[in-house]
Amino acid sequence: MKIVSIESYVLKDQLKESFYFSQWEYSERKICIVKITSDTGQVGWGEGYGPAPVIKAGVDFLKTFIVGQNPLESETIWNLMYRRTLDYARSGVLVSAMSAIDVALWDLKGKILDLPVHTLLGGKKREAIMPYATGMYFTQCEDMPETLAAEAQSYVKQGFKAMKIKVGLTLEKDIENVKRIREAIGPDIKLMVDANHAYNLREAVQLCKEIEQYNIGWFEEPISPEYYHQYNELRSKTSIPISGGECEYLRFGFHRLLSANSVDIVQPDICASGGLTEAKRISALATTHGVEIVPHTWGTGIALAAATHFIANLDIMPGRLFPDAALMEYDRTENALRDQLTSPAIEINEEGQFRISDRPGLGFDLNEEVLYNYAMEESKLETTGLFQ
Ligand code: MG
Repeated sequence: MKIVSIESYVLKDQLKESFYFSQWEYSERKICIVKITSDTGQVGWGEGYGPAPVIKAGVDFLKTFIVGQNPLESETIWNLMYRRTLDYARSGVLVSAMSAIDVALWDLKGKILDLPVHTLLGGKKREAIMPYATGMYFTQCEDMPETLAAEAQSYVKQGFKAMKIKVGLTLEKDIENVKRIREAIGPDIKLMVDANHAYNLREAVQLCKEIEQYNIGWFEEPISPEYYHQYNELRSKTSIPISGGECEYLRFGFHRLLSANSVDIVQPDICASGGLTEAKRISALATTHGVEIVPHTWGTGIALAAATHFIANLDIMPGRLFPDAALMEYDRTENALRDQLTSPAIEINEEGQFRISDRPGLGFDLNEEVLYNYAMEESKLETTGLFQ
């Protein structure tokens, strides 16, 4: 059995309404999607998290020595990619390119063996997962706290039991937004905040002090990701759990983060930090530090499916008879690529959870017509004959 082709596409969608967070404004979506075909005729789909055109270039480089390999030997292929890029890319977008290929290989392997990826990872340790809504980004509006509170309430109405909001605007504005949102959703909804490393240690300590009263589930990326020891110091000064890791790559990066006791919750992005192969290693590493994992998840249904299968297989930390529901990030900002490319969509039940699929591979159907419609012209030119 062998891989006969690896194709990569940059999908682009212009947003109807732009939004921003502490670092920059989003007015469009660009996502790199990877398709791997085996000589059995089956295909696997993957996606990379990060600047899509650069990830595509990385995939196009890596594929030159992967075509012809056995798709069932995903770890062998992972090591091949790692050894060929180790000297100059132990973090960053080339690792995202590796991740996209690795996710596609797991999907393909599952389809070839007719088994869900969670079985291939070692087994499903739970039947359902609780998605949390990521939203409450900043927009140009007259009364931002009111607008964000209304958005938060809409997620409660949709059945979400947990959500994450953006902070990192100014301390004063953040405090007001958190207060208004907590009042709007009531005491029973889990509420997390994410600064995308907008603050220094002094400001982060101050914000924690002011918002501790609102029962915050975690404070994500309070400080720039390089300052592991400042994360540790912040942890000693607040009762709010501290999380981070979406800017970290490979188990070696997570080893640095975890060894410095920087976080209570670690958040690798499966489509950036090394794929499902490396995420499994990172999760083993996290257990040696007694740290929980809730992956950072962004992008299309491919990334969501990869996170679903990974979380299905995660060890419960700590083990007990009645553990909390396993959380999964579910971005709710405008994204036509996420909504249209794959199906079925996530359906939340009365407990605010969704059931884990047992379909083979990553368990979704991908609409290639949608892929074609959103693929940028240069992607299409390289796929002569595929979309005539
Ligand atoms: Mg984040």
